[in-house]
Amino acid sequence: MLWIDLTRADTEPLAFSERPVLTPHSGGEDVVSVAGVEIEGRVERAGEGYLLEGRVKGAARLRCGRCLSEFDFSFAERLELHLLPSSALPQEEEKRLEMGDLEVHFYDEPKLDLAEVATEQLALTMPMKPLCAETCRGICPRCGANLNLGPCSCPETSDDRWAPLLDWRPAD
Ligand SMILES: [Zn+2]
Ligand SMILES: [Zn+2]
Repeated sequence: MLWIDLTRADTEPLAFSERPVLTPHSGGEDVVSVAGVEIEGRVERAGEGYLLEGRVKGAARLRCGRCLSEFDFSFAERLELHLLPSSALPQEEEKRLEMGDLEVHFYDEPKLDLAEVATEQLALTMPMKPLCAETCRGICPRCGANLNLGPCSCPETSDDRWAPLLDWRPAD
């Protein structure tokens, strides 16, 4: 774990640059591996808490949701995180709404786990359904061949499951 002691930013901005090692499952079940993650930026005192600005980048190997082959995915995201003590947790609905879209992280102790921040960003940046390409042809439902590599040897007959639809006629 890569903890930052936030109080070190009390007097002047604190710069950081770390390379956390993330486990693949931190990005979801389609993530095969994650490598070369870097998180860097600076923390400064802001109001009751701190403001973290920086960026996180890295590369992941994902599994395509259609053809199940693996492909590389690189990411580079800007970070802006507001860090507030838990004592500042908004109690009233009004305050909650005010904070709206701000990315706020509440802490009990004035410290922050950079590996956790990187993990959260990774999860946010992952595609919901990873595809090796928009045009991925997927796999043949009969023989399981990867159709991106060329047509399989299955006979080109019409899919029986659709036959009832072809016979369908509106009733008079
Ligand atoms: Zn694919
Ligand atoms: Zn086939």
